[in-house]
Amino acid sequence: MKKLYSYNFITRILFLLLTPTLFRALNFAFIWHSIYWGTITLVVIIWSVAILISPLFGRLGCGWICFMGTIQDITSQRSLFQIKWKKPIIWTRILNICAFFTTAFIFFFIRLDSGTISGIKFEPWFLNMDFNIHYKHIWLYDTLGAVLLGLLLERRWACRNLCFMGALCASGASISRLIPVVDSEKCNLCGKCETDCLVRIPIRDYVTHNNGLVTNSECLICGKCIESCKPKALKLKFIWNRNKYIQKHCFPQPIGTTLQS
Ligand code: SF4
Ligand code: SF4
Ligand code: SF4
Repeated sequence: MKKLYSYNFITRILFLLLTPTLFRALNFAFIWHSIYWGTITLVVIIWSVAILISPLFGRLGCGWICFMGTIQDITSQRSLFQIKWKKPIIWTRILNICAFFTTAFIFFFIRLDSGTISGIKFEPWFLNMDFNIHYKHIWLYDTLGAVLLGLLLERRWACRNLCFMGALCASGASISRLIPVVDSEKCNLCGKCETDCLVRIPIRDYVTHNNGLVTNSECLICGKCIESCKPKALKLKFIWNRNKYIQKHCFPQPIGTTLQS
């Protein structure tokens, strides 16, 4: 478990390097094109699985495969702003979800009506995998966008406040069973985990108000906090029933309401 972040880091760098080859399979923006063409493609399958497993395993898609997130993590080491953790802006994400799917489905129905397409087909490799000049440009713009967002804003700001896919995964992750858990008896509230957290989750608040269960839907299950914690107070645990766990592990801190975001 201590090595979780090392695996996470290697996996994400690998996906980042594979991005030019697997661009159309990994970049969730191509879901728009898939709906437009009425086709269930590989990118639709990959991100549907990421959303479907989020109530059990949290945001593995955001934390382990998304190249946009990885680029932001790298560049935000030098970001101009270090804003204190704030709850994500929900309405911008909802607006983006509506805009993305409404426009995609409008085009789908227009094409269906005009007879350009005949319905929904299953064709995982429909989006051509060759890296032609058109896709090179999209890849370049996406990469530059992620670099700029990382440099100009707080770490993963765009993930928390703009990305529609992040919002869909986060809604499932709000009831995730896989959770970082702090052993309140070992924790000395030093705050190192918070400083190093890829999304800067206020982990100590969960120690003092939630019996150490870091039930935050922005968590990427990356393991960075576990690596940072010198007293080894943090572990990633699979907890089926949060309330039962809290009752069983009732630590002597003031117990507040369950923290969520
Ligand atoms: S929130 Fe969006 S951009 Fe950020 S890691 Fe998740 S899918 Fe990628
Ligand atoms: S790094 Fe460990 S000891 Fe320090 S606040 Fe975080 S969980 Fe507690
Ligand atoms: S709380 Fe820990 S596992 Fe979750 S995003 Fe932060 S560093 Fe990663």
